[in-house]
Amino acid sequence: MDIDFLILCRLAGAEITLKEDAVEREGGCACGAMRYRLTAPPLIVNACHCRDCQRLTGGAFAVNIWIERRFVEADHARLRSVMLAAGSGKPHEVFSCPDCGTALWSKYHAVPGDTVLLRSGTLDHPEEVEPDAHIFTRSKRPWFALPAGIPAFETMYKIAEVWPEESRARLRRNIAGET
Ligand SMILES: [Zn+2]
Ligand SMILES: [Zn+2]
Repeated sequence: MDIDFLILCRLAGAEITLKEDAVEREGGCACGAMRYRLTAPPLIVNACHCRDCQRLTGGAFAVNIWIERRFVEADHARLRSVMLAAGSGKPHEVFSCPDCGTALWSKYHAVPGDTVLLRSGTLDHPEEVEPDAHIFTRSKRPWFALPAGIPAFETMYKIAEVWPEESRARLRRNIAGET
């Protein structure tokens, strides 16, 4: 075994370690004008089968990364914002690229704190994100079979009953204005 081969093996190992440790994910809109970077892992990832997510994405469901807004690095001031009504009756604010209209994330004003639900299909590597829960399955497409072993809910769940403690603690810190 020559030395070059050994060095290659070490480099390959180092790359795998880095990838596993990386929490920074990048993404952007379809035209490329709006780019973003996530500087923390998701609080939770919801596959949402509600009618709003179906209409907004044109798909069967959206895979939304729920995360504190401050951990989404982007030119927030450039985004176009549209106010819709959420099922709660409170505003559902959708943020899109001003040039191509790709919806990147939403803010539900009924939720305390300052968090957004980012559409994971806009990530550069969306395959790295898997849903932790399926919600609003009452309006899921009949041909889509829910995966075994992933919690599924007819509507929205209660955060206190579903989120891991670490994520609930992060949300508490966010509501307190600390993050
Ligand atoms: Zn764009
Ligand atoms: Zn939804």
